[in-house]
Amino acid sequence: MTSAPAIELRGISKSFGPVQANKDISLTVARGTIHGIVGENGAGKSTLMSILYGFYRADRGEIFINGRAVEITDSQAAIAAGIGMVHQHFKLVENFTVLENIILGAEDGGLLHGSITKARKALADLSETYGLKVDGDAVIEDLSVGHLQRVEILKQLYREADILILDEPTGVLTPAEADQLFRILGRLREEGKTIILITHKLREIMEITDTVSVMRRGEMTATVRTADTTPEGLAELMVGRKVLLRVEKEPARAKDIVLEVQNLSFVDGSGVTRLKDINLELRAGEILGIAGVAGNGQSELLEILGGMRHASAGAALYKSAPLPLSGATANGRARRQMGIAHIPEDRQTAGLIMPFMAWENIAFGYHERAAYQAGATLMDNAAIQKDCAEKMAQFDIRPPDIMLPARNFSGGNQQKIVVAREMAHTPDLLLIGQPTRGVDIGAIEFIHRQIIALRDQGCAILLVSVELDEIMGLADRVAVMFDGQIMGERDAAKTDEAELGLLMAGLTKGAA
Ligand code: ADP
Ligand code: MG
Repeated sequence: MTSAPAIELRGISKSFGPVQANKDISLTVARGTIHGIVGENGAGKSTLMSILYGFYRADRGEIFINGRAVEITDSQAAIAAGIGMVHQHFKLVENFTVLENIILGAEDGGLLHGSITKARKALADLSETYGLKVDGDAVIEDLSVGHLQRVEILKQLYREADILILDEPTGVLTPAEADQLFRILGRLREEGKTIILITHKLREIMEITDTVSVMRRGEMTATVRTADTTPEGLAELMVGRKVLLRVEKEPARAKDIVLEVQNLSFVDGSGVTRLKDINLELRAGEILGIAGVAGNGQSELLEILGGMRHASAGAALYKSAPLPLSGATANGRARRQMGIAHIPEDRQTAGLIMPFMAWENIAFGYHERAAYQAGATLMDNAAIQKDCAEKMAQFDIRPPDIMLPARNFSGGNQQKIVVAREMAHTPDLLLIGQPTRGVDIGAIEFIHRQIIALRDQGCAILLVSVELDEIMGLADRVAVMFDGQIMGERDAAKTDEAELGLLMAGLTKGAA
């Protein structure tokens, strides 16, 4: 065993047209450590990892693995150098089993069947060594995201990867799945593997990494030992200014009831009850947070209230008048005309039309507003474009190009476009789903401030988030959902993560 670092990058540069994604980057990662990389959206993290993994070629620079210079021309060369990438958007074949997926691309010339027996044994060994529990015969399409990620990791280990790259692996995981992943990463480190972990969550960096590097606008601006830094320190290095990691707010001054939900239920197309007798009340000037592990009915509740989905039973009152929960008038456009705005959970399928330009996306749902009209049939495009340019400046949307299609913005900037649009017309009721999923901390701070400001202007806000930190930071009251029901409601100032965690696990139903 040599004492050379597992990975050494020297002077890596990479441009995409006019954008210099990586500028003269040098990085050293010691063997058997977990090295975190943080940075705002667009800082160049994924580009750098794609170069290490052979997905892109650097314009300049050198790569050394275990002290030896290597040319990583493609992903085969990366695999040969012992580098494995755990992709964020899993690259598994849906109707194959776990075993088949793990050996896919690694079969040694023989028939798939011949290598299956060998792979089964190898899989059992790997599961044993690293505590990675996966059923080899399960079919991929039946697995949860947490399991899929384990399959991805096993696949890399089966190819004898010594270096594992994980690019935002916890974005799609529940808190319990993320804990499980970290236990696995800890085991991999004990066994001498070297891990690069990209994440926006500073808590994860503090918890699991040995060293951490900060990227900012294409440059590597700092590398520190994790023990020598703090979340606040990292945040400042990332954003280039002090960032408030805690949301600052005054106690809510709740006013009249804006929304009342009565015995709302929802049975899905395959007959499964997703929501059972939901009752809640929301007042002007307060934020009701809905906590829960993803998949416990929060999404359906939000979609029904937003007019994107129809309820099976129950009623709702909005400003004391019936709010249709099914039928032709229950739709997002009608809701917006009533002053109900909605930041949907999935910005790419529900929040934006990806091929359309930023300025068009800024107007969607609101294009019938008087200020956007020019005569009886025409829209005042100039007015919308001017509005869009202003919002892009106000929300620091990068790049500030109103003509750029939505799909060409990074995830965080796409989210800011949706948030800017839905907050712009001072709604009376704002429905928010996962406002900061995949968004970097500078933008999170900004979005959180906007939410509080809207509350203080008297907007009633229903916030669904799987990030308990986010719920605790923003909400005035917290309702916890489990298995389609509300398990309990708490005053945010008088509860803690432990109590909410129990409710999220469905444990203390009805306890006051
Ligand atoms: P991060 O992972 O830190 O969010 P990326 O490495 O994805 O950042 O992106 C860095 C910069 O390079 C961004 O400005 C991004 O828009 C740009 N970029 C990344 N990939 C491409 C590409 N294939 N074509 C053009 N620009 C790209
Ligand atoms: Mg990235």
